[in-house]
Amino acid sequence: MKISFFSTQPYDIKFFKECNEKFKFELEFFESNLDEHTVNIIEDSEAICVFVNDVVNDKVINKLVKKGIKYIALRNAGFNNVDLESAKRNGLKVCRVPAYSPEAVAEHTLAMLLTLNRKTHKAYNRVREQNFSLNGLLGTTIHGKTVGVIGTGNIGKVFAKTIKSLGTHVLLYDPFPNDELISEGFNYVSLEELLKQSNIISLHCPLTPETHHIINKDTISVMKQGVYLINTSRGGLIDTRAIIEGLKSKRIGALGIDVYEQEDKLFFRDLSETIIEDETIQLLLSFPNVLVTAHQAFFTEEALSQIALVTLDNLKQLKEFNSIENKSAELV
Ligand code: NAD
Repeated sequence: MKISFFSTQPYDIKFFKECNEKFKFELEFFESNLDEHTVNIIEDSEAICVFVNDVVNDKVINKLVKKGIKYIALRNAGFNNVDLESAKRNGLKVCRVPAYSPEAVAEHTLAMLLTLNRKTHKAYNRVREQNFSLNGLLGTTIHGKTVGVIGTGNIGKVFAKTIKSLGTHVLLYDPFPNDELISEGFNYVSLEELLKQSNIISLHCPLTPETHHIINKDTISVMKQGVYLINTSRGGLIDTRAIIEGLKSKRIGALGIDVYEQEDKLFFRDLSETIIEDETIQLLLSFPNVLVTAHQAFFTEEALSQIALVTLDNLKQLKEFNSIENKSAELV
């Protein structure tokens, strides 16, 4: 089976090629994102493999069907960029990697929080310039603070346990509470209570119509003055305009984002020689208390190996299942 990969980076090629020694698929790598135009470059493939910012909407799916594609393999967990209804209607099978390394994302969330709080990114640059002053580097002690975790699935669960181990008081919100966390004595509260009581809030829910802009003007208005907000989930969870107002009013004391509403035009590329037209990200980057990383929370060796293995195994299983289905149809 031939698989066409979109949005590929050198590290994707390395990890997938290594893993494919076991599977022996034919792999084809495209650097470009998948969209209504780039879909036309596919030739003689049965499957495509896509990432977070590839567009897999109804129009793209219709073209994929004409190209003979049978399987769409997401090499990530979130599937908000895929029109699943259309895929089902068109008989395309979709698979994803639901949990490759929740620890990797939880650890990056913690790294963002600690960096913002203790300003180690500023200290690093300052000391290299022989400036050994501490002015402007004052942080707070995380121990004893209240931390709100929104979404307690694979990643939120690990983050809740990790941050609790620093001596924090953890509040959880999830429409589907996690039994393991309850049995370990964690507290679930309403979203409003979490927003009102937390010194630090971390987002770990998927992007759905219900969670789109879950952080908006109204929810920000009930948060504590100076709250730290970290988002390593999906950019669309935060209304960026509202968060900028929150930063200006100092209601938001620090913001760490690994994801951004308009990231598809920026992330995973070197734009250092380009004039960026997105004024919102320029404004965000100008705040001293904002830390932006470019969707790197998943980016560990262990996670990349696991992503490659699960993605190729998903496709192997779908292909085998399909041939069994076809055989039984022939028998009928
Ligand atoms: P998961 O499906 O295991 O958990 C998500 C949890 O969110 C579930 O418990 C679900 O009940 C809960 N949820 C659903 N609707 C909610 C709502 N309205 N309010 C609060 N909680 C709600 O997902 P996960 O693997 O833990 O991933 C969490 C997020 O992290 C996803 O958005 C995923 O796309 C993102 N992610 C980001 C990276 C990265 O590199 N930055 C990597 C992996 C995953």
